[in-house]
Parts: sequence; C-alpha cells; structure tokens
Amino acid sequence: MIVVDDLVKAFGGFHAVDGASLAIEEGSITGLIGPNGAGKTTLFNVIAGIFKPTSGRVFMKNEDITGLPPHELFHKGLLRTFQIAHEFGSMTVRENLMMVPGAQSGETLWNAWFHRARVAEEESALLKKADEVLEFLTIDHLKDEKAGNLSGGQKKLLELGRTMMVDARIVFLDEVGAGVNRTLLNTIGDAIIRLNKERGYTFVVIEHDMDFIARLCDPVICMAEGKVLATGTIDEIKSNDAVIEAYLGT
Ligand code: ADP
Repeated sequence: MIVVDDLVKAFGGFHAVDGASLAIEEGSITGLIGPNGAGKTTLFNVIAGIFKPTSGRVFMKNEDITGLPPHELFHKGLLRTFQIAHEFGSMTVRENLMMVPGAQSGETLWNAWFHRARVAEEESALLKKADEVLEFLTIDHLKDEKAGNLSGGQKKLLELGRTMMVDARIVFLDEVGAGVNRTLLNTIGDAIIRLNKERGYTFVVIEHDMDFIARLCDPVICMAEGKVLATGTIDEIKSNDAVIEAYLGT
C-alpha cells in the first residue's frame, strides 16, 4: 500500500531520516520501533505530508504521493492522528467527531441558507455516525464530556474515532501508549484490531511498549539513525543483533 524509497529528511546538515526504504502491506498492522531519535516521527511526518522530504519518494498504491499536502493525502484515505488540539478541548467528544473535515459537506453559507432541510438531514446523519463511532470505541458514555477532561487513553480513542468519521484506508498512529494505563491500552489495542479486521484499515504504529507491539503488529520495522535496520516478526526483531546493538547503544 505504501512504498518509501530512499527517503532523506535533513534539518540543516543533520539527516533525521537518512535513506530509509520500506514497504507497508495493505491490511497489515505494522509496528515502527527504534531508540529515541531514530527518525520514526520524522518519517511519519514526511509520509503524511507535514514535511517535504529532502530527497527520495513515497508511493501509495503505485501513485507517487511525495510531498503532497496533508489535506490531499486525507482525501486519498491516508491519515495521521494528532493530539486533540487545545482549542477543541472545550467542545464535547461528540462535537469533536462532528468537526472532522470531509465528514461534513453543508458548511458553505449557500447551503446553510438555501438548503436548510438538506443541511439538517446531513447533520442528523453525522450525529448518527458520531454515535456509532463512539459505540464502536466503547466511549459512548463520554459523548457529552468535554474533550479536555478526557484521560490520555480516552483522548487516543477519540483520535481513532476521528479517523472513523471519514473513509480512512491507512492510519499512522504515533505513541499510542504514552501515559495510558494498561486497561485503556488494551481497549485501544482491541479497537485497532477490530478496525483492521472488520473495516480493512491498514495501520502503522509507533510505540515503545513491546507487549503492545507484540500483541498487535506484524511485521515490525526497526529504525536507528534515520535508517531501517530490520523488518520481521517481533520475535525476529528481538533476536536481531543489529537491533539489540542499536538499543544497547542508547
Ligand atoms: P524518533 O521519533 O524516532 O524519536 P524523531 O524523528 O523525533 O525520532 O527525531 C529524529 C532526530 O531528528 C532527532 O535527533 C531529533 O532531534 C531531530 N529532529 C526532529 N525534528 C527536528 C526539527 N524540526 N528540527 C531539527 N531537528 C529535528
């Protein structure tokens, strides 16, 4: 689904991503691991159009998507999740879902004024979709809660929920488990597995929690110093000498 070919992203003279090549299989939950500073987040940001690469190419289903801006990738179904921005914290969980761009088409003044009936219809369809998403993620009891009051793990579920409001095909998830308790981390893992199995989402997940990676991800890609060191099952990765050395060296 995604092919990254010899990607470089330099900040000044420093190559945060330094000739990374990898492939993401459609229908997989691929784990991306590696010591801090390995270039994982930068790689995500280049694939998702946040940064333009210094050199190299990114393909999605054989189409060259190198350097396309995030909104164009969004329309192709490539999404990178982001923390709920501060300004959305005072809106409810359900309102946050309804704000997802692309989920709503009745935004223009013209529509609002001349097609009130249609806008109302769309809004109720959107409400229904938001409620279905909340139920799927088992956070329907939080729908009227302000997003800013959610715990870290609940916010992660809401981030996943936002990808469900549009027709996502591949989702890039950054640091799922940071500051999330074990129970909620399992709930997030369950949601990812169900989205993968039942809705055909492909996932790429950056995560430090090896139990989480082992439960969800096959294959696992290990990066170090801007390059891909190894790709394989978690067991292959854990016994790979270059991987062990990269982790011990930090
Ligand atoms: P990881 O996600 O694997 O921890 P990052 O992609 O965040 O790694 O960072 C890789 C390297 O690039 C780090 O040394 C980091 O300091 C550097 N880096 C990341 N973003 C920037 C930036 N915007 N400007 C300069 N250096 C950066």
